Amino acid sequence: MICPNPKCGKQNPDENVFCEYCGTRLSTIPRCSNCGSPISEKQHFCPSCGKKVSHKNEADEVLVVFIILSALCPLAGIIFGSVNLTKKKTRSGAIYLTISIVVWLVVVLFVLLTSISSL
Ligand SMILES: [Zn+2]
Ligand SMILES: [Zn+2]
Repeated sequence: MICPNPKCGKQNPDENVFCEYCGTRLSTIPRCSNCGSPISEKQHFCPSCGKKVSHKNEADEVLVVFIILSALCPLAGIIFGSVNLTKKKTRSGAIYLTISIVVWLVVVLFVLLTSISSL
């Protein structure tokens, strides 16, 4: 594990949580979600408990936030469309509802496909 601090950048043992040389947190160390043991990038199964390891990075977390947001936005559209329908604005209400449901279905399908491919 190389220290993420650009002024330091020294090599640390993989089990270190903090840099030995400057104290920067080595936050990118992958750890087993089951027992918390440190896991190297090459290991696909935890050496301590045998659980399958998924090497997640920060891009995955950004993607999860993006998926949650894009799942919530169509819901707002569905509510807005329903309100328009009850106000007898049938045409715009129906358009909002249709677009929202289609976008929402695409998001759900996308989430399902990405979760299947990461298994
Ligand atoms: Zn360091
Ligand atoms: Zn483990």
